[in-house]
Amino acid sequence: MEILQTVQEMQSWSRAARQDGRRISFVPTMGFLHQGHLSLLQEGRKRGDLLALSIFVNPTQFGQGEDFEDYPRDLQHDSELAATAGVDVIFAPSAAEMYPKGYASYVQVEGLTETLCGASRPGHFRGVCTVVSKLFNIIQPHVAIFGNKDFQQLAVIRRMTADLNLPVDIVGMPIFRETDGLAMSSRNVYLTAEQRRQALVLSAGLAEARQLVAAGESASAVILADLSQRIIAQPEARIDYLKICHQYSLAEQEQVDGDSVLLMAVYFGSTRLIDNGFLVPSDD
Ligand code: AMP
Repeated sequence: MEILQTVQEMQSWSRAARQDGRRISFVPTMGFLHQGHLSLLQEGRKRGDLLALSIFVNPTQFGQGEDFEDYPRDLQHDSELAATAGVDVIFAPSAAEMYPKGYASYVQVEGLTETLCGASRPGHFRGVCTVVSKLFNIIQPHVAIFGNKDFQQLAVIRRMTADLNLPVDIVGMPIFRETDGLAMSSRNVYLTAEQRRQALVLSAGLAEARQLVAAGESASAVILADLSQRIIAQPEARIDYLKICHQYSLAEQEQVDGDSVLLMAVYFGSTRLIDNGFLVPSDD
């Protein structure tokens, strides 16, 4: 497994792979790998001849006062995990390599980015779309794998890829959870034991919402009121948003149907966690 840090080296690697007729799968991450990332790598392995992983904590997707500096990093451990997951190349550039002096170009997807996490984190998706389009140009993948964990991000990337005619297949993978239900996230390390216990309300709340729907409830307001009560009963929880939206348009829905996704962002102490799931259960 190679670890490359410059755009030039990475582009040469990809050019050679393509000249050899190899199909490149790509998994973009910010590192501090967990089993959720590994499930994406496993899928990537199946979908290509060569597997590329990027590890880059992208400064342009963090707002002022967010956790860019504190975001957990461990390239040594990540490389060991990546090697066992069958990764062929890690692209781990510095911020200066990706955004050299004079850098001035950004990618903005409209509409979809203005709600949910986009409303709470202005500029976040501009940074995500910019880095993902740069990574697509550098790594030249045939297929890229993303997690449903960041449901809005996946919808935005699909939109951007279609709108800009990027020749990359986008694949979404189910949320990988701890055995007690907590969605795996690199940010879970920020939680105290007590906050982590309280955070189980998210997956339990999702299950409860699904049960309500299965029992015949279809009014979003009723489902959200029930969930909101459960969440605010946790002393360290503070709701950022709690919404039921259409899976593609992300428009809020008053009535639940087969396209409805429950989307949540909740702070436990100063750690913001997200979780989501279809209300008429599908595969996650
Ligand atoms: P991150 O390193 O947090 O930027 O995530 C990199 C990729 O891994 C994104 O496509 C995420 O949606 C995905 N991901 C993160 N956590 C999980 C999880 N628990 N299950 C599945 N995919 C995940």
